[in-house]
Amino acid sequence: MIRPVIAGNWKMNKTVAESVAFAVRLRAAYDASPGPEVIIAPPFTALQAVAEAIRGSFIRLSAQNLHESEKGAYTGEISGGMLREAGCTCVIIGHSERRTLFGEADDRINRKLRIALAAGLKPIFCIGESLQQREQGETEALIEHQLKEGLKNVTADDIRHFMIAYEPVWAIGTGKTASPEQAEKVHRFIREWIARRYGPECAAALAILYGGSVTPENIAGLMAQPDINGGLVGGASLDVDSFIRIIGC
Ligand code: PEP
Repeated sequence: MIRPVIAGNWKMNKTVAESVAFAVRLRAAYDASPGPEVIIAPPFTALQAVAEAIRGSFIRLSAQNLHESEKGAYTGEISGGMLREAGCTCVIIGHSERRTLFGEADDRINRKLRIALAAGLKPIFCIGESLQQREQGETEALIEHQLKEGLKNVTADDIRHFMIAYEPVWAIGTGKTASPEQAEKVHRFIREWIARRYGPECAAALAILYGGSVTPENIAGLMAQPDINGGLVGGASLDVDSFIRIIGC
């Protein structure tokens, strides 16, 4: 049985003070271990302060990105070790905004996934097709390609530390959610691919999150699908009341 996961990706939103205020309210509302695993991904500047605000709670801290090297002359970048030191236990990798706006290709994403693991961070590995790819019937081929390239040299032992987020690009920030059935079809495809590559036990234990215009109104329908184990939430995670409703506490 996979514990459900709800992760909030704040992107480039919230000051340190706003982030801490959110974390304090969330902590007060969410205190119980039987609920879903809750993860928040504030901007880099707020990580340490939020880590303090959630210390000793069940809320986990994620970064939104990291560099694929351990350290060095990479002006403006952040390493996995630095994120661990700031209190992160997870990191989002391969988000479509990183792929499209910052030109991150599969090989770079693969290096990021592996360095995250080496740093002791749990990757939330994002994959998903564009509207054009969906309309041309290329969804499964694209998903397979992203999995194959992103998971090069990733072992069955490694995959136990992963979460995968299926995020159809056409549903991110657009208000258009994949229907539960559309999302389930791709989630099942991902799980079957993982089962073929890593074995049924790894596949059965893997949390596969759906992302793309998740709201308090549509989360229940998505979570009712057998292969949807949680949500990666952008816009609706910025308002603490809306996020608390999505968590269901
Ligand atoms: C995201 O950016 O990961 C996301 C799913 O955003 P939204 O919920 O706003 O579509």
